[in-house]
Amino acid sequence: MDTCHNSRNAIWEMDRAHFLHPFTLFDSFAEEGSLIMDKADGRHVYDADGKCYLDGIGGLWCVNVGYGRDEIVDAMAEQARKMAYANPFTDMGNAPAARLAAKIAELAPGNLNHVMFSSGGSTAGDSAFRLIGYYWGCKGNTQRRLFLSRRGAYHGSTYITQSLTGNAGREVKEFTYADDIVRYVAEPNLSNRPESMSEEEYIDWLIQEFEERVQEIGPDNIAAHFAEPVMGAGGVIVPPQRYITATREICAKHGILYVADEVVTAFGRLGAWFASKDVFGIQPDMIVSAKGLSSGYLPLGATIFSDEMHGVIAETGHGRLFSNGFTYSGHPVCCAAALKNIEIMERENLPGYVKNDIGPYFMEKLGELSGINTVGEIRGSHLMACIVNVADSETGKLFDPAINIGKRIAKAAQKRGLIVRPLGNLNILSPSLTITREETDQMVSILSDAMAEVHADLNC
Ligand code: PLP
Repeated sequence: MDTCHNSRNAIWEMDRAHFLHPFTLFDSFAEEGSLIMDKADGRHVYDADGKCYLDGIGGLWCVNVGYGRDEIVDAMAEQARKMAYANPFTDMGNAPAARLAAKIAELAPGNLNHVMFSSGGSTAGDSAFRLIGYYWGCKGNTQRRLFLSRRGAYHGSTYITQSLTGNAGREVKEFTYADDIVRYVAEPNLSNRPESMSEEEYIDWLIQEFEERVQEIGPDNIAAHFAEPVMGAGGVIVPPQRYITATREICAKHGILYVADEVVTAFGRLGAWFASKDVFGIQPDMIVSAKGLSSGYLPLGATIFSDEMHGVIAETGHGRLFSNGFTYSGHPVCCAAALKNIEIMERENLPGYVKNDIGPYFMEKLGELSGINTVGEIRGSHLMACIVNVADSETGKLFDPAINIGKRIAKAAQKRGLIVRPLGNLNILSPSLTITREETDQMVSILSDAMAEVHADLNC
């Protein structure tokens, strides 16, 4: 019975029959089920048949220090043995959570010295939303109730964070969204530039559109702007620097809080602890973070906010509960894992390695694929990249969506031992920060072969 239950097919079948995965296409899942993974080490994952793959997406842009770090496992086990859980509500605390909050305050830019913990990026976004509303209330401002987001943004999958999301994932007609309080600005994607405009003119247009949207909505009605430093799930869009600086300034000018959603970009992926200040030179009022914070060893999110916000709430919020938080806020085992994860990143200087060595090499090496006729664009920064597949790179003509080009290439790569993430006509790459030059070369060579196979199948 046991053996039967543990067989590869039995597990595949249990998964298919009982586990509803995130963002599932029910029809194809019913046929194909999922690729069941069994173990992982370093930058590699192994499926239930023992086949080894180079993990080109670092779990889901999260396993920043790589798999199989005994030190993290030991820290988790030690904390779990000592105290597996601690009630975080109001007047109870625990050492790993306190230490981690202080460490995040030390690493975060400027006066972002306060941390609210949650179990992931979406719940960290939810906490940001609540803190913002509460902050404005404490200031006696009841007018600032609207939230500004970008088209193409991804902020999570809870009610509010999916409402703030500006990509197709948020258009399920059976769902309801907080349409009454969310407004959008254009996606800052230079690829959308009309032929008649130069890049600089298009950036001018984007900035002007942002300012006009703010004026149209009424600056005094806007509580906050949520923005990813590099837009990840929307297709690895790196907003132009001038746009980031200008939109940050427009928010400051109108008293609109600027929330940097650094769920993907923080903890080394762009070569810095936090990308807002060190990569893009802006100081946000809040940062939402998760993923690389614990390198995915355990679920953890953090909402990081300013002395200013904390001060206003502390001074004026007397006698009222800030009713937000979770059973697992500041979970001691998750925080112990994150502390060890950060210690490893510091000791191995992983942000520095990404910034000065592997990040530039990775983008340069991927650039070799741009000679392929169906590669329309390779975009990204450091260890956040995306290949835009098109039917013809000369004309930019897209593949028929029914061809499912991203998935075809991902499957061909998988056959050759590489996991890449398909997203429509895109393939996304975000490996662990410890990836080597040799592994990067291998990744590019597999991708090239995978594309050749798909092109041969499609006669293109
Ligand atoms: N924000 C961004 C920018 C993300 O990329 C994600 C997830 O990919 C989230 C928020 C949501 O994080 P989670 O899936 O941990 O809830």
